[in-house]
This record gives sequence, structure tokens and C-alpha cells, in this order.
Amino acid sequence: MDNKEIIQILKLTASLLELYGENQFKVRSYQTAVYNLERNAQELIGLGEKQLAELPGVGKSIAATIREISQTGVSSTLDNLLKQTPKGILELLKVKGVGARKIKTVWDQLGVETAEELLSAATRGELAELSGFGKKTQDRIQQIISFYLSNKHLIHYKDADHLGLSLEQQIKLQFPDARWSRAGSFRRKVEVVESLDYVWASDRIGEAEDFLDSMQGLDKNLQLSGPLRWRGEFRDNSELLDVRFCNLSEFGAKLIYYTGNMEHLALTNEQGKSLREVLEQSHSDESTAYSEIGWPVIIPELREGLYENEFLSGHKMEDILVTEDLKGILHNHSTYSDGKHSLEDMARACKDLGYEYLGISDHSQTAVYANGLNEEKVLEQHREIDRLNQELTPFKIFKGIESDILSDGSLDYSEPILHTFDFVVASVHFNLNMDVDKATERLLRAVKNPNTTILGHPTGRLLLKREGYPIDHQKVIDACAHRGVVIELNANPWRLDLDWRWVHYAVEKGVKISINPDAHEMDTLEDVYYGVCVARKSGLTKVMTFNAMSLEEMDHYLSTRKSKISLHSNV
Ligand SMILES: [Zn+2]
Ligand SMILES: [Zn+2]
Repeated sequence: MDNKEIIQILKLTASLLELYGENQFKVRSYQTAVYNLERNAQELIGLGEKQLAELPGVGKSIAATIREISQTGVSSTLDNLLKQTPKGILELLKVKGVGARKIKTVWDQLGVETAEELLSAATRGELAELSGFGKKTQDRIQQIISFYLSNKHLIHYKDADHLGLSLEQQIKLQFPDARWSRAGSFRRKVEVVESLDYVWASDRIGEAEDFLDSMQGLDKNLQLSGPLRWRGEFRDNSELLDVRFCNLSEFGAKLIYYTGNMEHLALTNEQGKSLREVLEQSHSDESTAYSEIGWPVIIPELREGLYENEFLSGHKMEDILVTEDLKGILHNHSTYSDGKHSLEDMARACKDLGYEYLGISDHSQTAVYANGLNEEKVLEQHREIDRLNQELTPFKIFKGIESDILSDGSLDYSEPILHTFDFVVASVHFNLNMDVDKATERLLRAVKNPNTTILGHPTGRLLLKREGYPIDHQKVIDACAHRGVVIELNANPWRLDLDWRWVHYAVEKGVKISINPDAHEMDTLEDVYYGVCVARKSGLTKVMTFNAMSLEEMDHYLSTRKSKISLHSNV
């Protein structure tokens, strides 16, 4: 059992204790432990009760619970709570933004036990009548639950990617010569996907089907499967698997057909011939099918029917960004704020990955919940960066900050402190319930601030969990273009914000895109890959990617921009 699983148990216990109205202190003690343990790199499993109790945020009683979990694999406190709780209520507890106490009220007073029932009760206006609710809360819950239900069957690309890799490993072992490929939105690397799609070509389709039938952890859905199609679920998480079989001679054509969306397949060449027509004949390779229409193989990410023509006529496919083009990564956290690993660990890990620089941008002072840095801490961190830069040279750490954009759109420090940073990522983290005018105005003010280098995760969305605040994308992007502000494509698989559908417009306006993992620990530095995946969907080129700049170029860019700040300050 690893730390993650132990923390998961504590987290669920906290929610259930809150649900059943346990006293606030007890609930808080679990929440504090979870918060601290998530930022603790030490392995919990081998620790004794005494050592556990000495960890920050872990008291005696939680230490005993952790010990029990590491020895038995379960927590008796949690087990007792689970026995009294219906499955639907557990599901509701995972939905962000409703709250355990409110769930208990609707359960007790309206008999609501599932997300669907909660939505119906809200639609019928029954929630507004409950004490502590009102019309506004009812509307908010209705919005949250409909968002949840409409996304319930979707999976993050990163999760799908991992699941796919382990399945593929087994296929490779069993059928080393088989021709198969990912397909559909899964192959197009859409940020969230409905199912893991594959096309599998074989002369022995029966054997391939039998293999999937007998694979542990997969459940076949007989009703949805057919002679050339295997559909079912991954048992643990109920993600869908959809495999289409074909003959080797038609692999290329089938793969194009099942990868591109409708718009892609409807694209035509100058003679008016559509891709769909070409696919009516057999092609064993994608390249022969595309060449018949006069095109090179279009990278799967681009097959959305949006920017293919532009690439075919102007840019080359090779111009599109790949992860190796990134020379450094900006926007990362350390233990100075809410990160799990020290500044030095983060820098060394980044260097080991082959990058030339790391931008560290811990949270600013207003972000108390994330241990934001006061001015003194900022200066202390800068001293450490100076020391590390001497040691790690030619690798460089840039001094950054993720400054909260306050409610009125201003940044979080006094001017003299803001001037000490090499770069500032400006992001919104609180007061998220804004209408589009207010949210846009708030961002515009931050963009106009000459200290802002990068606009961080512009909508604050958490995919499948929380909608972002509404913004007028065009206005915000235009302002960034006007002020020379870079826009972040936050590569955290939960965010992928700026949405790739707006990246193209930003680039058209001359705005560079910075792909940042927003890593809070060493492991997630590599999440930058998922940002690149979606950036490629918009056709983002290396030239327009901010952190594809070499160390020398970045150094020059940041110092030049900084020297202009005082000139702009009065604008
Ligand atoms: Zn942030
Ligand atoms: Zn951040």
C-alpha cells in the first residue's frame, strides 16, 4: 500500500465524518493530516506510530489509524462509516462543490441517494425550500450536478493513456507481430475521452478476440460487441474499451476512418475528392491513402477538421511542437509554498530531464491556503536560488512567482517586490463565482499590469470536476497580444487551460504560448507532455512556444522585458 492509497482512505474518512456531523475538530484533524501528507515525500508504510505522530499535521489518533491501515490494509473507522452509507451518497461526496453537510440534509429530508435524484429534486425546486439552501444554492447545485452527470462517462487523457499503455504491453507480448493502433478521440489525444478505441488488423481475428475475452480485468459487453468489434469495460474503473478488427489489407483505410472526426473525413482536395471517398478502397497503410488524395500523413492530433488545410498549404507537419522542443519549464512549485519537493530537488529533477532551466513560481502571499510566500520568504527563496544557480550552472532557475490575481484584478505584492522577480505568472485562485464581464475585467486588469509575464490557467477549469469561470476569450487574448503577455497552456491533466481550441487564435494574434506542468512534485514535471499533446491539436509550432526558447533566449527575453517595466508603469 502506497502513500496515495493511505491518503485516499483518510480523505474519504474525513468526508464521511463530516457527512455524519462528527465534531468539527475531528473532521479538521483528518483534513489537516491529508493536506500535510500530500506534501510529504516520506514513505508512510514502514513508520511506527511514534514516528507518524511526529509528522507535520499528524496527531496521535491519526497516527494510529495510519498504522492500522499499513498493517491490515483497511481502517476500521472507515469500514464502519462505509457500512451505513449508500453507494450513490459516496459518489455524491466526490462531486466538487456540493459539500457533505448539504448532501446529508437532502438525504435525510428528501430521501435523495444518487446524483440523478439530486438533480431531479433541484429541478423540481425542492432544494430551495430546505433550511440553509435557498434559490441561489439550488441553482448552483443544479449546475454542478448536471455538469457532473454529463461528464461522468468521460476519462482524462492521462488516465486513458496509462490504462492504454498497460493493455498494449500485454498485446505486444502475446502478438508481437500484430498491427494495431489507438483510434478515435483517444488517438487524437482529446483532453477527455469517452473510450479507449483501437483498430487491430489480423489474419487471425478469432485469436485476438479470444485474447481479449480471456484477459483479466476486462469484462466483455456481449450486446455491444459483434463479429468485428469487441466492446467492454475495464473492471476496476469501468472505462470503456472499443476494439475494431479488420484484415491487414485494409488497416490503413480503417485506421484513418476510425481516427478522424466527421469534419476531417469530409475534407476535400483541390479536385474536390474527399478523404471519405478515398477510404472506400482498401489501403494497408495510412500513407498510401493520404497520398492518393495528395496529402502527407496528417498527425492524428490535428484530425479535427479545423486546421489541416492551413498546415497543408502553409506550414509543414514537422513544424508542429514536440516535447523535445521544450528547453525549459516555467510555473512550478516547491516546499516554499504547497509543493511536495524542495526547490533544490525540483531543480535537479528538471536538470536530469535534460532541460536548460526551471521557472519556480510558488504561490503568493494572499494564497494562505497554499502557504503563499510573504515578502520575507520571497527574498529568502531568491537567496537560495542565487546559491543553487552557482552550483548548477549552466542550468538556471528563474525567479518567478504565481501571483494571485486579486478580486479587483491587481497583483499580490508591492511594486518593489514585484520587480525582484524574473517573471510573474498571474493566476486567479479564489472568488471564482463571477459573471463573464467581471471575470474578463479582472483578467484584463492583470494583463495590463506591466509586471505580468504570463497569464496562468486563464479559466481556472478543472476538467470533469469544475467548469472554469466564464471569460471573453477573444478580449483577453487581444489584450495579451497588445501588452506582450504570454498565455499559459497549463499542462496539468486536470486543467489543460488555455483550451487548445483558443490556442490557434492566440497564435494568430502573435501571442506566444507557455506550456507549463504546474508541478507540485518532481513526478509531475513530465506532465508537460500532456500540454504538448493538446497544443499539437491546435497546430502550435515550436516558434510560437514560449518555453521552446533556449536558456540564452529566455534570459534575454526576460531581462529585456523587465527593463521595460518602469517605462510602462505609468501607462
Ligand atoms: Zn495556479
Ligand atoms: Zn501553480
